[in-house]
Order: sequence, then C-alpha cells, then structure tokens
Amino acid sequence: FASLYQVDEIKLITEAYINTVSNEFFSEKACLEAVKAQFNCISTVALGLEPDSFAILSLGALLNYLLETQKHSLKQITTFKTYEMGMHMALDKATLRNLELTETLYDKKVSGSLLGVLDKTHTAMGSRKMKQWLREPLNNSEQINLRLDAVEELYNQLLVRNNIKESLKGIYDFERLAGRIATGNANGKDLIALRNSIGLLPDIKDSLEYASSQLLQDLNHEINPLTEVYNVINDAICDEPPFTIKEGGLIKEGYSEELDTLKDSIKDGKFWISNLEASERERTGIKNLKVGYNKVFGYYLEVTRSYYDMIPENYIRKQTLANAERFITPELKDMESLVLNAEAKINQMEYESFTAVREHIESYIAIIQATSAAIASLDVLCSFAHVSEKLGYVKPKIDDSMEISIVKGRHPVIEEMISGGLFIPNDTYLNDKDSSLLLITGPNMAGKSTYMRQTALLVLMAQAGCFIPCESAHIGVVDRIFTRIGASDNLAQGQSTFYVEMSELSYILNSAGPRSLIILDEIGRGTSTYDGLSIAWAAAEYLCNDKIQIRTLFATHYHELTVLEESHPGVKNLNVDVSEEDGNIIFLHKIVEGSASRSYGIHVAKLAGIPNKLLERAKDKLHELENGQHHEIAKPSVVKEEEMQISMFMPFMENPVVDKLKALNLMEVTPSQAIRILEELKESIDD
Ligand code: ATP
Repeated sequence: FASLYQVDEIKLITEAYINTVSNEFFSEKACLEAVKAQFNCISTVALGLEPDSFAILSLGALLNYLLETQKHSLKQITTFKTYEMGMHMALDKATLRNLELTETLYDKKVSGSLLGVLDKTHTAMGSRKMKQWLREPLNNSEQINLRLDAVEELYNQLLVRNNIKESLKGIYDFERLAGRIATGNANGKDLIALRNSIGLLPDIKDSLEYASSQLLQDLNHEINPLTEVYNVINDAICDEPPFTIKEGGLIKEGYSEELDTLKDSIKDGKFWISNLEASERERTGIKNLKVGYNKVFGYYLEVTRSYYDMIPENYIRKQTLANAERFITPELKDMESLVLNAEAKINQMEYESFTAVREHIESYIAIIQATSAAIASLDVLCSFAHVSEKLGYVKPKIDDSMEISIVKGRHPVIEEMISGGLFIPNDTYLNDKDSSLLLITGPNMAGKSTYMRQTALLVLMAQAGCFIPCESAHIGVVDRIFTRIGASDNLAQGQSTFYVEMSELSYILNSAGPRSLIILDEIGRGTSTYDGLSIAWAAAEYLCNDKIQIRTLFATHYHELTVLEESHPGVKNLNVDVSEEDGNIIFLHKIVEGSASRSYGIHVAKLAGIPNKLLERAKDKLHELENGQHHEIAKPSVVKEEEMQISMFMPFMENPVVDKLKALNLMEVTPSQAIRILEELKESIDD
C-alpha cells in the first residue's frame, strides 16, 4: 500500500532491495487462505490471530510471496512467532554499527567485533543464534536472569560443559537440513549427517539430566532424542551414500527383501561377465582380449589387429577402431540385458525407498526444528560460559532498578587487543537521579570513547545473557541504547556530516525514554565553535532537567559545559587522567571525578606526525587565543538558556501553538478555514 514516493524513501534510508508486488498479495481473502493452508487450520483464531488482524495480511502476503518465488511447498515453515516491540532491547542501525557488535566499522570483519570475542560456538546454528542474541538483547529481567543462571551453571560445571562441547562438535547444521528435507532436496549424505547428529543427542541429554538451572532443564526438555528418525535412517541408508539419489548405492542390505533378492539375482550374471575376459582369453588363445563397457554398445569383447585371424566364429562384429575390433556374443548380450534391466530396476527401487524415508522424516520437521533451536541456544550458553571463564568475566546482577553500577569494568574487545593485561579498568555509576548524565572531558586519545562504548557493551552483553568483564556489576534493565559517535556523511542523500550528526541527535532526543542509555560523543563538533558549544549545552540540559533524567554518557571537548554540574543535580563531571612530564603527556586511561582543563590536541597532533613547524605555529596561536589577544573571532552574545531551548527543541516542549496544530484534523478543514487558523496562530505568536 506504500506510495511510490514512500518506497523511494525506504530505499534511500535502508539500502534494502525492494520488490513491488501486486495488491492481490495483500488481499484479505488471499492472505487468510494462505495462512490457513500453511498451518492447516480452519480458523486463524486457533493460531492466536484474530480474523481481521493486520498480522494475517502481513503473514499471508509473505507466504504468498515465498510460494511464488520459491516454486515449491513451504513445509519447513511449521510455525511463526510474533515479534512484540519491547521484548528486546531496541538497537538502531547506527548503534549496531557504532558498537561494532558483529563486525568492525572499518573493515567489516568479525575479528575485532564483540562477536569475534564471544563466539566460541561449535555449531553453525549456535553461531547464528549468538549473532541474533547480540543484536536482540532481552528487556525482561527475569528472562535475562534465566540465561545468566544457565551460564553460571555451565561456568561452574566444567565437566558437563566439556561433555556438551564434545557432542556439539559433531553436530551438523540440522536446522538447514530440515529445510532441505522439506523442500525435497536432501540427498543420502544429508540424511547420514542428520543421523550422526541425532546420534549425539542422547549424550547431550545425559549431560543435562541433573541440571539445576531452569533454562538448562527447559532446553533438555526441548531436545527430542529423535530416536525414530535415527532408526529409520540407520536401517535404510548406507553409511557412505553417493551424492546422487537416482543411481543406486543408497539403501542398506537387509532393508528390503525384494531389493536384496533382485541384487542377488544379478550377482551370478555380474560374476560371469567379470570372469569372461579370463575364460575367453584361455578359450581363444587371444592373450590381450579385453571385456569392456560403454553406454552406446553395452558390453563388448575387444581384439587387436594382430589377433584378427584368431577371432572365433560366434563373435559378432559391432565396431571397428583404428587398431582393434569390438564384438559381442549372443550369450554376452543375454547376460547384459539381464544385468542392466535388473540394475535399472534396483536403482528405481532404491530411489523410491529413499524418497519414502525422506518423506517419512518430513513429518518430524517441526520436532527437528525445535530440537535444533534448543541445541543452538545451548551452544551459545556454553560459549558464554567458556569465554567468561577464560577471560575473567563475572555474573552481573540484573533487575528493574534504574541503576547502572559497574566496578572495574573493561572493554571486552580492546582488552583482548592490548596484550599483557594492560587495559585499565574503570568504574561507571549512573542512575536517574543524582548521576544521570556523566559529562566526560579529557585529553584527546585519553580513552573517553572507549569508556563510553565499554559501558554500552557491558549493559548489552549482560542483557544478552553473558557474564561481563568487570569486578562486579548491578544493571537496571536498559530498553534502548542510542549512540551518536563519529563523523559520517551521506552525500548521496544530500546530507552533510553536520546534518547527519544533527539528525541523529534529533532522532535520539525524540525517541529516548526513561529506561534508555544514551552515548553522545562530542556533540556539536561539526560546526563553528560557538554554534557547537551552544547545541551541546542545550542537549545536555535537555537530557538532564527537572522532568527527564535519561542515563547518558556525554563526552565533550567543550570544557565550558562542566559548570552544568553546579546547576543540574544529575550531572557528574568525569575526566580521564593524564600525567605531564617535561612537556610530554602520559595517558593513564583512568576515569576520575572532576573536569579536565585541557584537551592536549596539539600534543596528539605531534604524536600523529604533524610537522614541527606547523606545531610551533599552532602553539603560538593557542597561546594568543587563550590570552584573548585575537580579535577576529567574535565572541558570541550570551545566548539565554531558554531562548536556545525554544529554538532548538521547541517540538519537545509544551507550547499552545504546537498543541493547537496537533489537535487539528486537516481532513476536516476547508482551505479558507485553514488560512483563518493560520492567521490566529500567527497572531498568538506575535503577541
Ligand atoms: P578523542 O577525544 O581523540 O576522540 P578518546 O579520549 O575518545 O580520544 P579513545 O579513542 O577512547 O580516546 O582511546 C584512544 C586509545 O587509547 C584506544 O584506542 C585504546 O588503545 C587506548 N585506551 C583507551 N582506554 C583505555 C584503557 N582503559 N586502558 C588501556 N588503553 C586504553
């Protein structure tokens, strides 16, 4: 139903591939029919879907689209899940990218991302699930604690974890296999891989038998041993079947009496043919006589030119080559047709037996899928436990409070990159009252961004169910993480670097709620000093006023902002410690209370290799500016706080004009009424 304009907008924003379909895909009747047919029910109420719900339209349209594009039945789709907003922590595209959850910003690699550190799963399904858990951390403290308790048990029970790990190593991607079986694409090797994987399930269930945590018990319950499927495959399919399913060699001896009898019946014939070469050499005296086979002539006897005078009478010439002649005999042809006919029949029977086995397994697809989902979750929990033990992570306390208290937290990725335990741990304390906005100043390169990302990552990891790198932590659930980090432009969409920065800020301020966590790194740096400072100032105030106190980490080089601590009880000044020796600074990477006085930008420029001459000039200029000797840069007239907020953030404030506009239903006013309303509004502002 989207207009073409909206489709273009979506394309620009998401870079998604968009395929337009006819309205018929969304017709109520077609959608209802598709849903009922797929899930084999008379009424959708049984599926938890009210007849006129939009969910039926989207589900039905999706099914119809898949049916049309996949060109085969969708038997592997056995159920559907509704995604409720609020079940998971909301992470927008910019945040997923900025926090480098599954790939690095710079070169899009897994190594160097959070996933790169945490993913020690052993199955392909586990790895996919790990990605999903990191992208969709939980919002419900009870569910998070279920995961954390399971990780704790696996962390403590090393033997159990190792046993599970050994079994997981042999488990094939049977989530994908279920799809291949349902679409009729699985071959003999797939079924044997499935059998071998199923063969490991009893060991896993044994390992979980005495589990005390609820989640591990539940997973054990969800893992079906699939004994019937194991037996069917084991009885029917050879241990090393070929890739093809139409050329025999698939079915085990003993599975079908008829097949075995047929196979026996050609044994004599095959034996006769395989002996023919030796017996004919002896009978005819032709020493190099050969028995061969090709698809055009079938079996033949080959005699080279030098033995032509010894060719016996019963040989019938079939083919002449440069140096040899090929013959058949009536006995050979009889034996051949017996063998080949029987072989064709055997292949057909094997094919039929194989597809019957595959179809039989099809009825277990939903159980196979549920089992594979449980195995995937177990794999992730084991991986979390393994990494937590190896890297010294601890179990965080999670509840519904508004606190974030992390003692000696470490950045999970950077601490792995800095070898030798050189990462400096730091504390974080945030709440919604007296410490809701941490204003972090400090030199360039000191570790401000690292500290802020670290806080976001630890919260996210904890809510995904993993232990976290710190000494102890208490985290009140965060329902959304917002980040505004780094400079990026979107020139293709006509958006400058500063415009992108402002639209991201606007999005955050419009969308953040009381349970959000906001990371703002150097807001306002993309414009002139005073414009930037004013915007940063107003944004900090907006996030930390009498009405709203949203947990925020706010790094800035505008040291002027640190006075906010005096007027706003929620603001806490932090800075990153450095020590200065003989004009050189040493980065201590230690977050301490209080504000920084300098940014040491010129020092960092020196480290980066900027020419000395330029640095000397910059130092002189800095000295001049700091002493107010420069008159070309106009100081700003002091902007009144209220004015600034009204112009920047008017949409968020109570305002009678805005209220009137909101209440207005444009569909119900005529153009002349609209002009009158506009005049009234204008008058009310002019007053
Ligand atoms: P800028 O203001 O220039 O953006 P910054 O203060 O945000 O700098 P970061 O980018 O966070 O600085 O850190 C710079 C480098 O310092 C990191 O890449 C990392 O190698 C190192 N670092 C940061 N924090 C720590 C820490 N706690 N322990 C050890 N090394 C750290």
